[in-house]
Amino acid sequence: MNYSSAFIPTLREVPADAVIASHRLMFRAGMIRKLANGLFAYLPMGLRAFRKVEQIVREEMDAIGALEMKPPVVQPGEVWKESGRWEAMGEAMLRVKNRLDNDFVITPTAEEAFTAIVRDELSSYRQLPLSLYQINTKYRDEIRPRYGVMRGREFVMKDAYSWHRDDESLDKTYQAMGRAYRKIFKRCGLTVIPVKADSGAMGGSGSEEFMVESEIGDNTLILCKDCDYAANVEKAGCKPDFTARSPEESVAAAANTPLFEKIDTPNVKTIDELCTFLNNSPTNFIKTLIYRAINIEDESAPVPEKFFAVTIRGDLDVNETKLAALVKAAEVELAADSDVVRLTNALVGFAGPVGLKTLPIIVDHTVTAITDGITGALAKDLHYRHVAYGRDFTGSVIGDIRTVKAGDLCPLCGGELYEKKGNELGHIFKLGYKYTRSMNVSYLDENGKSQIPTMGSYGIGVDRTLASVIEEHHDEAGIIWPVSVAPWHVIIVPIKYEGEVKVAADELAAVLEKSGIEVLLDDRNERPGVKFNDADLTGIPWRVVVGEKGLALPRPQVEIKHRREKENRTVELDRAADELLLLYNTEVNMLL
Ligand code: ATP
Ligand code: MG
Repeated sequence: MNYSSAFIPTLREVPADAVIASHRLMFRAGMIRKLANGLFAYLPMGLRAFRKVEQIVREEMDAIGALEMKPPVVQPGEVWKESGRWEAMGEAMLRVKNRLDNDFVITPTAEEAFTAIVRDELSSYRQLPLSLYQINTKYRDEIRPRYGVMRGREFVMKDAYSWHRDDESLDKTYQAMGRAYRKIFKRCGLTVIPVKADSGAMGGSGSEEFMVESEIGDNTLILCKDCDYAANVEKAGCKPDFTARSPEESVAAAANTPLFEKIDTPNVKTIDELCTFLNNSPTNFIKTLIYRAINIEDESAPVPEKFFAVTIRGDLDVNETKLAALVKAAEVELAADSDVVRLTNALVGFAGPVGLKTLPIIVDHTVTAITDGITGALAKDLHYRHVAYGRDFTGSVIGDIRTVKAGDLCPLCGGELYEKKGNELGHIFKLGYKYTRSMNVSYLDENGKSQIPTMGSYGIGVDRTLASVIEEHHDEAGIIWPVSVAPWHVIIVPIKYEGEVKVAADELAAVLEKSGIEVLLDDRNERPGVKFNDADLTGIPWRVVVGEKGLALPRPQVEIKHRREKENRTVELDRAADELLLLYNTEVNMLL
């Protein structure tokens, strides 16, 4: 391909909203342009790199026996109503009506659509397990699209879905997907951290996210210094730093605690203020918060009420994802001040579990160890002291809802935990029966008995993966493509594209292309400096400079440089193609 006809509009300036390297470089290198907020066009060079990522994903999906298909991007609202997500998806889902006033959805994800298609075709156990996937456009009306294609509104996701007779079969595919994901990211030259993830309120029994470390990451990862424990903070656990007790054990442990009593705490509300005021430590406080559950998904949920009180040791924070999972709600949020006042008869800041009759109480494990604690007394400027769990109050549900933080201890080995910020590139998920049950999917087993299949879902963002490759592989001058994703493998830069130089450059390009190497030939009538800058910016792995001087030598020479390297190497023109092929193959093999 000749540069002059490749439509690569490189830029010096960057748009003001391009705050991360990949966004800046994709713009400057002429890979993408913005059509509207969160809506990007890939220009031809950008699309070449995009297609490489897409193809790697496709090859690894095919390798594990997943079958590609192509459902429509516009889905009937009907299937979303069947699964119950018509409401649950909220405003992220773009809904449209057709001329007959029927509801449609621009695919944000496709559990429902695939399940509806499979439902009609599935009859026998012989058809299972089944894994289907698409690499297709998604639309999510993200509130704040940002960082270029990292978080766009329209993007391309590979989403795969699988159906199984039992957990064992699901686990097999889930593991195979996990291995395929590791391969995909390795082939793209990416360093990913697989982490344990929240698997939601319903049925999900396993979930793993594939993260890249990133300063702008939306996720907090909890990692162990000593072993390979890694979890999203939404899921992370830690080694207990307390002695959990049953209510009976707590009563016994509080044998020497005086009876609880009210104390005046004028104008002190926060735990810090109280600590200073009472000269006590936050670990002796029973923090009490009033929460509201949204979309309780399961009628057997332990807390059917919408509002509930949550107690946790005073030095800790509630992890709302863990809390939602514990109460089997899709989401939980802090109750509005007015609800707190209405439900506790006290101002915000004075809630406490003692004598709280109006709400179910969720107790974090840490609270069960408190035998002589301080907590709100459900009245302004009053607290209780000498409060003991088991003796003075109990809870309707006890569980782990603390937010794990750096410095806590690893649940596996007891080593120290630390935090990193991460960006999610992919997610694999055991869904269980959520969709197959609500959408009435069934098959007949060997005995002719109707059974419901269990299900998994597996997603990778193609755009976000591509942008992450640039995040990991760039310098001040531009992109440094791993060969697997590079739009072209070699850029030939003739100092002046004329005469003998032109002949040599054209010939080299032709020989390389014959061996399967993709070549961009910079045939422009530009100064060498301009061409070199563009070669650096666009990040094509090997640059070959062909000049009059080198060609005039008794043994004609060209200069070869990898984008990572600072110095050119001279290579005889006759040997250049072989040398490049060797370098190329070495690099290709490194990424396998
Ligand atoms: P996030 O928390 O980043 O919004 P998510 O949990 O909503 O991600 P999934 O629904 O699991 O993401 O989608 C699978 C993959 O699709 C993600 O891992 C990510 O790579 C990609 N993805 C999701 N939303 C976007 C987006 N707005 N822009 C680009 N890629 C996205
Ligand atoms: Mg999202």
